[in-house]
Amino acid sequence: MPGRVLIVDDNALNLKVLEAKLTSEYYDVVTAVDGPSAIQTAQAVSPDLILLDIMMPGMNGFEACAKLKADHRTGHIPVIIVTALDDKTDRVRGLEAGADDFVTKPVHDLSLFARVRSLIRFKLLADVWRARHASSSRLGLAADEAPAAEEDSKGNLLLLAESGHDSVIEQVLLADGHGVTNVPLTDAAFDVIRVGNFDLAIVEMHPEHGDAVRFCSHLRSMPDEVLRTLPILLVALAGTPRDTIAKALDIGVNDYMQRPIEPPELRARVRIQIRRRRYQDRLRRQFEQSVAMASIDPLTSAYNRRYLDVHLDHLFQQARGLGKPLAVAFCDIDHFKTLNDTYGHAAGDAALVEFTQRLTRNLRNFDMIARIGGEEFLVVMPETTLSRAQRIAERLRRKVSDKPFDLGPGQSAQVTVSVGIATMQSGDATSGSLIRRADKAMFEAKRSGRNRVMVAADERP
Ligand code: GH3
Ligand code: MG
Ligand code: MG
Repeated sequence: MPGRVLIVDDNALNLKVLEAKLTSEYYDVVTAVDGPSAIQTAQAVSPDLILLDIMMPGMNGFEACAKLKADHRTGHIPVIIVTALDDKTDRVRGLEAGADDFVTKPVHDLSLFARVRSLIRFKLLADVWRARHASSSRLGLAADEAPAAEEDSKGNLLLLAESGHDSVIEQVLLADGHGVTNVPLTDAAFDVIRVGNFDLAIVEMHPEHGDAVRFCSHLRSMPDEVLRTLPILLVALAGTPRDTIAKALDIGVNDYMQRPIEPPELRARVRIQIRRRRYQDRLRRQFEQSVAMASIDPLTSAYNRRYLDVHLDHLFQQARGLGKPLAVAFCDIDHFKTLNDTYGHAAGDAALVEFTQRLTRNLRNFDMIARIGGEEFLVVMPETTLSRAQRIAERLRRKVSDKPFDLGPGQSAQVTVSVGIATMQSGDATSGSLIRRADKAMFEAKRSGRNRVMVAADERP
């Protein structure tokens, strides 16, 4: 999910190096050479992330950061400050100015990409929550409070170690007033996580064990969203191979540090993760309170038609404004009438519930599923290109047909689905036109034999 990154540096060579690194990872890069033009550019192009040099003549990075964060047009855009390696007070000052993370010069690829990716992922998720909140406000459902400025409170931390605990980490965190729970890294740790209400898991990795990565991967696939999104900070030994860390970041570890532990860095990174978690929690809570009753289909817990209409239109305008892709998949269960006739209406209801669950489990956090008719569902995928949408739709189709549905005591049935997909085109005047094209493609999937995915006619090569 590359995104748009604004790089700010007064040094032309630094700018070139960072631009080359990020362009090679397919980020869309914009640059600025000082604080004032950075602020202007940020307002004009709405980047997903800002990489901000601290040492600049005129307005320095701290001032620029504070100004960006205070403006409602740019305040939600994550900022990574770029500091000199030896200046540890910079990091703390940067966080005080509202920065979301920091990297040190000279900038190492892995550390840069890890932080860039993690923050863009975070922003995308936060954008979705914010958009949903805006939609529910329009429906008159939301308690209309803007997200409050983030207070910096103490966290409830879980410290997991593959082999013997490092008391330095624990001492630093306890001294900062955090609550710390120590658990060895075994499957039993999941029982602690389920009931612990933690803000952050710090995983101490030992290169000869390798259970840490597997553990993180399990955590990332837990069914409960609150647990699944628990932030993870990985602490690796000095000699840990790059690949191992890269792999951990790939599966969704939020941040990492390498030994030896520097207490100021540990403090700052823990604070960053807690702050992000709190912000996300607040957005989620606001949303859940305000809309649960009125916009969710009571049978399947998917969004209902009414909510979809408002929300999709909003996503559509937003994607159009920012020049980003948007995909939808129209899903209609095959021969559902026959299933009802054969097994009864209650079994049909059970199938609808299981169908929704299979889809939800196989979508990303920021995708959305709405029930728009009896056995018709629309999956909305922000920032998703046609080829990606095709892969996702094909995976959903398989997850439905793979195993029979459990329809109550002693009853099970094979279920299949026909899917039509479309992505936003310049010819789509409204989100309605996008849905209609996906609906037509779904109808063609039915005509050509069902249990298949079809792309909208006008988007085929
Ligand atoms: P096709 O493969 O062409 O889509 O055939 P189909 O039978 O799935 O399509 P059709 O539109 O003919 O039938 C849809 C059926 O879905 C008819 C209706 O009774 C059933 N249905 C709609 N809503 C519900 C519901 O909430 N619960 C149950 N159990 N059935 C429902
Ligand atoms: Mg139908
Ligand atoms: Mg049907």
